[in-house]
Amino acid sequence: MGIEDETRAFVQPYRALFDGEPDVSVDQGWWPAVANALDALLALGEEYPKAKLRVFQVKQKLGELRIQCELDCVPPVMRLRLDAILHSAASACSVTCERCGRPGKQMCSSFGWLRVLCDEHAASQRERDARLDSEE
Ligand SMILES: [Zn+2]
Repeated sequence: MGIEDETRAFVQPYRALFDGEPDVSVDQGWWPAVANALDALLALGEEYPKAKLRVFQVKQKLGELRIQCELDCVPPVMRLRLDAILHSAASACSVTCERCGRPGKQMCSSFGWLRVLCDEHAASQRERDARLDSEE
């Protein structure tokens, strides 16, 4: 099973939150936090059937989890709860290795990428960077 198939299987329970094909591009270490957030968004949507809540993208940017939503007719109290859900998912991911899900911290490479990685994955990423660097 390739990573695309795995991602598709992972997002399957949350399809109702997306218009069309779900756009989820974070590595598997973050999937539990993303799943928690999407579960909470589904439940929130059921509580407020008149509101329109769609997720259009789940991605990593500058080492942070971004769950980007489109909102329409969302009452203020629902928006507050939505913000709390997104904030708690992002803060869980800020200390979780995006590759493997173990405790991690934000790393910055000489190439300028920012990612949350455990020591092991940060080390292998640095080795890869060093190899790329010496090939130039
Ligand atoms: Zn790791």
